[in-house]
Amino acid sequence: MDKIVSLSRRRGFVFPSSEIYGGLGSAYDYGHYGVLAKNNIKALWLQAMVQERDDIVALDSAIILNPRVWEASGHVTGFTDPLVDCRTCKLRFRADQLEQASCGRKPSKRPGETPDCDLTEARQFNLMFKTQVGAVEDSSSDAYLRPETAQGIFVNFKNVLQLARRKPPFGIAQIGKSFRNEITPGNFLFRTREFEQMEMEYFVPPAEAEEWYRYWIDQRYAWYVRYGLRESMLRIRPHEADELAHYARAASDIEYLFPIGWSELEGIADRGDFDLTQHTQQSGTKLEFVGEGGERYTPYVIEPAGGPDRTLLAMLVDAYDEEVVAERDRIVLRLHPAVAPVKAAILPLIPRNGDMVEKARGLFEELRKRHMVEYDDGGQIGRRYRRQDEIGTPFAFTVDDQTLEDDTVTVRDRDSLAQERLPLGRVREWLGEALERPWRTPKA
Ligand code: ATP
Repeated sequence: MDKIVSLSRRRGFVFPSSEIYGGLGSAYDYGHYGVLAKNNIKALWLQAMVQERDDIVALDSAIILNPRVWEASGHVTGFTDPLVDCRTCKLRFRADQLEQASCGRKPSKRPGETPDCDLTEARQFNLMFKTQVGAVEDSSSDAYLRPETAQGIFVNFKNVLQLARRKPPFGIAQIGKSFRNEITPGNFLFRTREFEQMEMEYFVPPAEAEEWYRYWIDQRYAWYVRYGLRESMLRIRPHEADELAHYARAASDIEYLFPIGWSELEGIADRGDFDLTQHTQQSGTKLEFVGEGGERYTPYVIEPAGGPDRTLLAMLVDAYDEEVVAERDRIVLRLHPAVAPVKAAILPLIPRNGDMVEKARGLFEELRKRHMVEYDDGGQIGRRYRRQDEIGTPFAFTVDDQTLEDDTVTVRDRDSLAQERLPLGRVREWLGEALERPWRTPKA
């Protein structure tokens, strides 16, 4: 994990937030390459969820909703984690995660393990951030930052049913920020207090819930494999009955083998009719499906819920590689080309050579109309390649002496380091095709 954190910082993917003021625990800011890579992940999710399907529509609901939404959903009373304080070291821990935590005075020990540890009884701590809406500060203006995007979807169920003229099975997909006052954030992007979610609520006839639940586990697993995660690092873990959230009839996690061990990458839950029933009761608006023949029922909901921050972390971990090439260490991010922030680098071999620069700039201007590409004429060619390797750029086109003679360029493959020559006029088409090709990591 340390290597990922340091590469992310060094190459401008992710910085500790408000660093000049000493940072804010477990908050991060995304730099240029981080933004590009995370945007790619979100776009690929929307592509699979909306663009490639007939049955799912997009939504972007507000972050601050009517607070009654969170009463109806059970979050005001139930969205809590058990918290214990240590009176000695003054640290706070999640009571259900003491096994993974370290004592504040003796980090090799768990909280409670040393004779000095003095833990309080566990008490329930609500994870929602409270805020005030408007100028009057009293309880009538209390509101919450959403702790999940899902509820914004449920309260729009009727709008979508009517206006998008859908009938079950159909889904609503949303990407957006969520906020949780996590007791123990940490492990870089894995658990932060402000993060993004990619959630899709799929409304189905109750009798079909089990079948769709299995279907979405398979679909989501296949999506992670499609975008390069190694199957040896992925597994599906069904929840035990005593682990299930209050709303869930069944749930499974897609887990990734992070450096901290197997941990949730995405959760798929069968939420039954819990949410639509709750909001029907609390709002007085009937959230149900009425068929043409007059049949009516409250659909069940299957929810795949993941997050682009955690997904990016998994992809960085999976992609990170070190090798020795020609007696030099090479660090390379073997990201899926669709996820890589920059698709190709365009490099004049000799930056002082005006003709090379002109050809390279021309190629760059042509390619940037379609793809995120980078022009670089700063420093030794070897250093420029290494920089591109570290940000995971899959291809580099180099303009050299021969280009000036025959209008061909070298293309270098990030993974195999193979080089071939291409006519300048063919590069645009070649890159388009190369980015479409299925890709598998060469990592074992
Ligand atoms: P955990 O058990 O890890 O706290 P959860 O089961 O509460 O997660 P969900 O409510 O299922 O998480 O949220 C769905 C997805 O949102 C997670 O799979 C993860 O990708 C993302 N997510 C949730 N909490 C965080 C967080 N604090 N930081 C980053 N991503 C998060």
